[in-house]
Amino acid sequence: MSSKPHAVASAPTSPEKETVKASHFLRQIIEKDLAEGTYASRRWAGSPGDAAHHQAAPLDSARVRLRFPPEPNGYLHVGHAKSICLNFGLARDYGGVCHLRFDDTNPEKEDQEYVRSIIDAVKWLGFSWEAGGSAHLYQASDYFGFMYRAAEYLIEAGLAYVDEQTPEQMRANRGDFGKPGVDSPFRSRSPAENLARFRQMRGGELADGAAVLRAKIDMASPNINLRDPAIYRIRRATHHHTGDQWCIYPMYTFAHPIEDALEQITHSICTLEFEDQRPFYDWLLDHLVTGGLIPAPHPRQYEFARLNLTYVLTSKRKLAQLVSEGKVSGWDDPRMPTIVGLRRRGYTPEALQLFAERIGVTKSDSWIDYSTLEGCLRETLDTSAARAMAVLDPVKLVLSNWDELMGAGHLEDCAAPVHPHAPERGTRRFRMGREVWIERSDYEDTPPKGFFRLFPGNKVRLKYGYVIECTGALRDAQGQLTEVQARLIPDTKSGTPGADSVKVKGVITWVGVSDGLPAEVRLYDRLFAVPQPGAGEKDFLDELNPASMQVRQAYVEPSLGAQGVIAAQADDKFQFERHGYFVADRVDHRSDHLVFNLAVGLKDSWAK
Ligand code: ATP
Ligand code: MG
Repeated sequence: MSSKPHAVASAPTSPEKETVKASHFLRQIIEKDLAEGTYASRRWAGSPGDAAHHQAAPLDSARVRLRFPPEPNGYLHVGHAKSICLNFGLARDYGGVCHLRFDDTNPEKEDQEYVRSIIDAVKWLGFSWEAGGSAHLYQASDYFGFMYRAAEYLIEAGLAYVDEQTPEQMRANRGDFGKPGVDSPFRSRSPAENLARFRQMRGGELADGAAVLRAKIDMASPNINLRDPAIYRIRRATHHHTGDQWCIYPMYTFAHPIEDALEQITHSICTLEFEDQRPFYDWLLDHLVTGGLIPAPHPRQYEFARLNLTYVLTSKRKLAQLVSEGKVSGWDDPRMPTIVGLRRRGYTPEALQLFAERIGVTKSDSWIDYSTLEGCLRETLDTSAARAMAVLDPVKLVLSNWDELMGAGHLEDCAAPVHPHAPERGTRRFRMGREVWIERSDYEDTPPKGFFRLFPGNKVRLKYGYVIECTGALRDAQGQLTEVQARLIPDTKSGTPGADSVKVKGVITWVGVSDGLPAEVRLYDRLFAVPQPGAGEKDFLDELNPASMQVRQAYVEPSLGAQGVIAAQADDKFQFERHGYFVADRVDHRSDHLVFNLAVGLKDSWAK
């Protein structure tokens, strides 16, 4: 590739597996809080709730509480996987609990389908929200009642007001970085007036958009998020969980700190773009502590850099566009960076956990090279994946002297280990005969420099089989290779005495014509041709890699079939020798219709 992404952080790689977890600023914060007992007085009533709810409860046995709070408005992607591994991983490492919380406070875009897919994704990644006999699976919409009460409290304390400026006026009066905001004419309303008006908002007496509730903070604050942020809006929308019970909904900035507080979260970890919201987070929770609505000490927010991965989009909106415009087959297309897509591509929880650990946690944005993700998959599959031979672009190789040497119709048994370092996993068996399938690219009429495979006069070994000598090839009228011809060299069978007496420079993989199984092989590559799709003025849809999927009618060795020692089942991973790691497709693979997806090549084919 010609264009190089800027500022690609090369993730640290260590020869030993990362058994000792790398420290980072979030670990240091948690360790300090634990050492100082910051949250030691925290109580937990067994379920989320307000100060009164937790007050009489025993001390919390979870030393820390974290949460992963997705909005159920799409499928999770590799960036979320980082956040899941981080939050659940920290809770596990420090004797805590991590809650899975659906941040479903926005009625418009959310759906039960996404809720299910998120639950599946977190479980599949290997994490659990069950602890101490209860399931810490929560939904923010259950807190609407408390949020409303908190809003009334702020109004009564003179800390919030109902603003009835038009959205345009509100925007103009907010000012900008260089210009302080202007007070709304509604800002000086009395608490009693505001309370009455807010109750009318709730009661459905005002039209959508006619008024908002705003926190009363400081219209001249250099932090625009503190210029009286809106905390409640009117929106007549049916919520997937609360139905039509509410016509006012809390804004995210108001809802999120409250969700954390009711759940007694200690460390609320979010991405950097929320840094400017932190002062409001603390403003709100400090006031709710003062008002006795939530217990002290309240949760604290910490920000880390989101994952940016080259060649990959992590915007839910853009991913949705790829699906809706048919650029991919669906959310689980094996080229998608969604967790369902990665899974169908052959990614494993171990690979994604290793990736999350290896890229670490930082406070400044950077890009991680896609090859780091692929490297983690390769590394984790190497020890686990069964080996097999497959010919992806088959052409027939005919051994002209086979019948004469071996007897007409003879099939010679050959064997290979299921895994080279795990003899206990058994032996693959397949047969060599007069005709075998080989890769079309393993033959050349005239060999280019450095080509050691088949060309007239050259000898190669058929892996686990015999040495052969190429004698020529047949082509059709269009010049297409139709058959490669060779002679068997006797007494050279792998594993027999004297097999090495004939030296060869090339070893090629093959599949017997007599026992090879047809298989559909889907060769996937990066979905985008450029490292930062959509950067600058470019439309990301114009930057798709046109060769991101090629389907091949291949042959694979019989051990992958239903009767074989490997017996490929959907979701199983393999190394096809010389080619790379493959997975039996979760959706389409059957024992009578084998379908394999390329997960990752043996080497980084994009390396410069
Ligand atoms: P939206 O645009 O819909 O808000 P989102 O990617 O922020 O999308 P959420 O469902 O709000 O989606 O995210 C859930 C959690 O995942 C958040 O805590 C967020 O910080 C984290 N997260 C999302 N994207 C990334 C990313 N690229 N890297 C790390 N964490 C991420
Ligand atoms: Mg978000």
